Amino acid sequence: MRTQVGIIGAGPAGLMLAHLLAREKIESVVLEVRSREYVQERVRAGVLEQGTVDLMRAAGVGARLAHEGLLHRGIELRFARGRHRIDLSELTDGAAITIYGQNEVIKDLTDARVATGQPIFFECATVSVHGFDAEQPTIRFAHGGTEHELRCDYIAGCDGFHGVCRSSIPASALTLYERVYPFAWLGILAAVAPSSEELIYSHHERGFALHSMRSPKLTRLYLQCAPDEKLEAWPDVRIWEELDRRFEIDGGWSLKRGPITHKGITEMRSFVAEPMQYGRLFLAGDAAHIVPPTGAKGLNLAIADVRVLARALAEYYRSGERAMLEEYSRICLRRVWKVQRFSWWMTAMLHRFDEHNAFDARRQMAELDYLTSSRAAAQSLAENYVGLPIQW
Ligand SMILES: Cc1cc2nc3c(=O)[nH]c(=O)nc-3n(C[C@H](O)[C@H](O)[C@H](O)COP(=O)(O)OP(=O)(O)OC[C@H]3O[C@@H](n4cnc5c(N)ncnc54)[C@H](O)[C@@H]3O)c2cc1C
Repeated sequence: MRTQVGIIGAGPAGLMLAHLLAREKIESVVLEVRSREYVQERVRAGVLEQGTVDLMRAAGVGARLAHEGLLHRGIELRFARGRHRIDLSELTDGAAITIYGQNEVIKDLTDARVATGQPIFFECATVSVHGFDAEQPTIRFAHGGTEHELRCDYIAGCDGFHGVCRSSIPASALTLYERVYPFAWLGILAAVAPSSEELIYSHHERGFALHSMRSPKLTRLYLQCAPDEKLEAWPDVRIWEELDRRFEIDGGWSLKRGPITHKGITEMRSFVAEPMQYGRLFLAGDAAHIVPPTGAKGLNLAIADVRVLARALAEYYRSGERAMLEEYSRICLRRVWKVQRFSWWMTAMLHRFDEHNAFDARRQMAELDYLTSSRAAAQSLAENYVGLPIQW
């Protein structure tokens, strides 16, 4: 088998890359270890930056998003039993975020891929990458009980944090930067209408909580918990009671309850592998970097990476010019580090840290007070939250 670009992973990064390349008439093959159903049902992110939405529309995969996505022009911050709205659109000349589940993005991109007739293989096994430090990289994989070898010009490692691509690069060629946080998020999906039209980020002495949603009938809620927390310790009633406490404000407010259809624990980590390229292997999305979900950036960063990669590959196939491919890592990392900073900052401001003393608690409160009383501070949050531009 032969193709121009071998893409490993059918998450947001791999599928969007395949789609952007197809629009440039560049051939690719997508390989995914999981089944199509599994990938499409996985409950993960749901906040799309303005740039992600604009790209989906411009690339012809935004029709359902335009009908079903929930446009949000602000977010709410809660602390010290009070509520404060950050008007994202007013602070950013009209930009906004859109709520649209990652699984819906995956469905739209998978449908678009299948419609091109170009290959996508689900349920692959023993995927491995070879020869990417020379001119002719290959990907070996098994599918339907048969071993295959895929020869390609370039490999895109879009296989997430635990994939094979990053770990196939010699350790001496990568520098890894990492911070693991001393807490996790217990996340639930509940079949009930959201209790607020906008996201609520709540800083509370018992720990952080987030009210989000996936649709007018599905609420997504998160609670800060211990990193080694066990789901069995959290029967539904305990989750609802803890959420009620953490969202409590003066004047009253109530959280709607409904059947919990999904529960999971997400670890919190900041991670960057530099550079994001080795020879003819390019890393994109979670394969190259992880952010704590507080800033809602993981999916959006993955999409921004492949936007750069697709443009660089298009330039190469159009003109034979490799200059932009060689700039790929530098262009992406410049934005990745700003998004790392923002995600770390949101996390540090909103969570309870066991090692904090009374000084730290007062400092956190002063930061939230500043953010909600200074236009300059709120504007900085808003421009990061709706998404920074790519600096080409
Ligand atoms: C459990 C979890 C929960 C999350 N929750 C949130 C959230 O609530 N809010 C938020 O903002 N962000 C969240 N994120 C982050 C966000 O979902 C990711 O940043 C985003 O999915 C990154 O997209 P990606 O395409 O780079 O990687 P992924 O979506 O991880 O896609 C990688 C794909 O590669 C496949 N793969 C792996 N290894 C191989 C292999 N060897 N061969 C072939 N295929 C392979 C995987 O099955 C997967 O489909 C969450 C992430 C995780 C892991």
